[in-house]
Amino acid sequence: MSARRRTLPGYKACRQCKLVVPEDAKQCPNCGSEEFVGRWRGMIAVIEPAKSCIAKRLGIEKPGIYALELVEE
Ligand SMILES: [Zn+2]
Repeated sequence: MSARRRTLPGYKACRQCKLVVPEDAKQCPNCGSEEFVGRWRGMIAVIEPAKSCIAKRLGIEKPGIYALELVEE
């Protein structure tokens, strides 16, 4: 991962499911992916995915903080 400025210092987003996780996470706890990006545009906090039409539209099934649009480095 590049040393460029991150969207949220100390955090990164899963490339596959866009879950925002701490920088030291080796694997995404949501989908198991090991690829992350350090920059993204927009975030969404999902608390009750089953009750959120936005979460459904984004295909989010687990609570968490998600990036909306990843910025490829
Ligand atoms: Zn993931």
